[in-house]
Amino acid sequence: MNYCDLAPSYIRSIAPYQPGKPIAELERELGITGIVKLASNENPLGASPAAKAAMLEAIKSIALYPDGNGFDLKDALVKRYGVTHASITLGNGSNDLLELAARAFLAPGDKVVYSAHAFAVYALASQAVGATGISVPAINFGHDLDAMRQAAQDNQAKIVFIANPNNPTGTFLSADELQSFMRKLPANILVVLDEAYNEYLPEDKRYDSISWLKDFPNLIISRTFSKAYGLAGLRVGYAMAHEQVTDMMNRVRQPFNVNSVAQAAAVAALRDVSFVKRTFELNQRGMMQITEGLTKLGLEYIPSYGNFVAFRIGGATAMYRRLLELGVIVRPISNYDMPDWLRVSIGLESENAKFLTALKQAIGEQK
Ligand SMILES: *Cc1c(COP(=O)(O)O)cnc(C)c1O
Repeated sequence: MNYCDLAPSYIRSIAPYQPGKPIAELERELGITGIVKLASNENPLGASPAAKAAMLEAIKSIALYPDGNGFDLKDALVKRYGVTHASITLGNGSNDLLELAARAFLAPGDKVVYSAHAFAVYALASQAVGATGISVPAINFGHDLDAMRQAAQDNQAKIVFIANPNNPTGTFLSADELQSFMRKLPANILVVLDEAYNEYLPEDKRYDSISWLKDFPNLIISRTFSKAYGLAGLRVGYAMAHEQVTDMMNRVRQPFNVNSVAQAAAVAALRDVSFVKRTFELNQRGMMQITEGLTKLGLEYIPSYGNFVAFRIGGATAMYRRLLELGVIVRPISNYDMPDWLRVSIGLESENAKFLTALKQAIGEQK
């Protein structure tokens, strides 16, 4: 028998998530070293030293179960953002939070709305619970909020997922656009506002979505320690929402979904404001370096508000492979309906330079 057939059809039809290639895997395949990975929007500075110290301290108590309520981390978030403990959900990465929202509120057959070219996990999390995803065509690779609202209302969707900035396109929605969308959307449709790259926004684009929670009880904000905080390997994120919404998300959560080392590191990382500032500044410079380099090579790119940028290149798949041979891992995004594009994460100055040199060589060979 085919054991796949034991799974419901909506599970069988899930397209597996395609992660960035790990450095060790490419080392094994090609026997090369000195590989630069610019494929998963990780922090090239690593993690804050304070977070690392907190991890070492937490290991001393590793035989004990973590605090299932995550009191210390929630308390740090309460003090930072002025929300209540009861409005915070902690997740094993923010990916977990997207799934908790789907599991808590969606039943088979329910409808979910997201944008074309939006983060792949919205479709995965929805499909995994038997819900039907509706992908709304984008405008210039960004979310078309009016069309998304219309689609949500027409289809009586339960959840709308919004990524701001979006991955892999880097597109950005202003505070005005988002608030106007929230005001017009019926209050019985939940909105998951995924702000994984919030810390990378330039000052003139920053907005206080947390203050909107009191006006919009259907809003769920999700954030992560994986990107600007440099803790992707630890898996920790948080969501803020109305207390009743939070209550439901916590009922489907694994009791110990965030491990004790991650909780301790996140508390320390949150306090290390200067590390996030350095990360932001490095990213600003690196973004300039890479986009100027792409322009010099005559390549089109989508202006990005994250720590990565998507660029258009002929023969993207072959180019991706050639870059691997040259020791640079970027991310193909054909699974985002962008087969002629690659996405590169912003790295250290030297990593960005290695990427641009390899890209120039690969383009030269292609001609
Ligand atoms: C990276 C990313 C996440 C989540 O990553 P976690 O490591 O699970 O926190 C969520 N949303 C978007 C848009 C991302 O790019």
